[in-house]
Amino acid sequence: MKILVVGNGGREHAIVWALLQSPQVTQVLCVPGNGGTATMDRCQNLSFRIDDFAGIARFAEVNGVSLVVIGPEFPLSIGIVDYLNNRNIPVFGPTRAGAQIESSKTWAKALMEDAGIPTPKSATFTDLTTARAYIEQQGAPIVVKADGLAGGKGVIVAETLAEALTAVELLFAQNYGRLLIEEYITGQEVSVIALTDGKTVRALLPAQDHKRIGDGDTGANTGGMGAYAPAPLATPALMKRVQNEVLEPTLAALKRKGIDYRGVLYAGLMIAPNGEPKVLEFNCRFGDPETQAILPLLATPLVDLLLACTEQRLAALPPIEWKPAVSTCVTIAAQGYPGNYDRGKVISGIDMATNEGTLVFHAGTQLKQNRVVTDGGRVLSVTSIAPDFASSIDRAYQGVKAINFEGMYYRQDIAQRALS
Ligand code: AMP
Repeated sequence: MKILVVGNGGREHAIVWALLQSPQVTQVLCVPGNGGTATMDRCQNLSFRIDDFAGIARFAEVNGVSLVVIGPEFPLSIGIVDYLNNRNIPVFGPTRAGAQIESSKTWAKALMEDAGIPTPKSATFTDLTTARAYIEQQGAPIVVKADGLAGGKGVIVAETLAEALTAVELLFAQNYGRLLIEEYITGQEVSVIALTDGKTVRALLPAQDHKRIGDGDTGANTGGMGAYAPAPLATPALMKRVQNEVLEPTLAALKRKGIDYRGVLYAGLMIAPNGEPKVLEFNCRFGDPETQAILPLLATPLVDLLLACTEQRLAALPPIEWKPAVSTCVTIAAQGYPGNYDRGKVISGIDMATNEGTLVFHAGTQLKQNRVVTDGGRVLSVTSIAPDFASSIDRAYQGVKAINFEGMYYRQDIAQRALS
């Protein structure tokens, strides 16, 4: 079986790795892939752009690709799945209509309110004057969200009125025509990534990520500086509530809209001190770096799950099985990230870091003259699985310390929360 994976991040490297654990997967093609997928056995990078739907479709048809897996939200939001569906090419991911659950915060909010899904209160604005008046009336802290894909930069948690007012001005000036202004809520965050075939929805292990650049959750927001799974906070009782109060009603609401949603349904949740889960956001794809923490723990073959979603037979599969272990994933970034950073730094030590319990997933890397060099802000993620968090944290950092490139930066406190 040949599988084509679209994307070039750490998430996609982890997906490729997990697919290749199955002997029936003879080859994975990665569009465009990175330095990690370029150096794996049975994997080959293809230099199509991720929005070159025609090129990807033609390749899949000519080469007998059995499944196309879409990693990032952007191609989903512009309809890659609709394009491939029209050509009868099996594909894992929601259609453009379904991807609105991530690409439009106001659409997702309306869906949640319609279906009675617990989520913070909010209002939608299309002009500065009304938005300002609303903020002044509500007070701070308050949360301002751009409506549209913003690469993780569209949400401002404003501590003060002044910050909130600046945020709305800035977002309108950046040509976001519509904003969501949301009630600020407190609690602990957890990511529940679920797989669905449009009829049945099954959650993977819950994970927690670390969004801020600095230790102790300080500094700028990033794409994610590390993750761990399973998050001890998400007890079986909480996961049952998430299934009944969030995942199933969301799928039902999508169905009522005539959307046959197949792929990942990812709920970013805030768990209130009283244990109530509220949805902060939905994503229509695997999380990065949560995927690098979750997939190494998966015992059921990933290819079986993805095919079952695409072929709408998830209910017939036995329960998803997991290794009796936990995982810690540490992101290594380039100096300056999430601001400006250099590329092209030679990376050493990846082989030394890799062993039976430790995997190194590439994100912003490239293979240049047979050497792996940096090619992005988040460069690598190192995942260690172990029987407990103390050993998994210890092993992950041993792996990180074996790696070297000029200006490498990582947080020192990934998964510490799991210990308390
Ligand atoms: P989102 O992309 O909507 O998940 O927002 C990004 C981050 O902003 C979340 O992971 C939270 O840390 C924070 N956030 C979003 N919405 C709220 C809210 N209503 N109250 C408090 N924090 C929030």
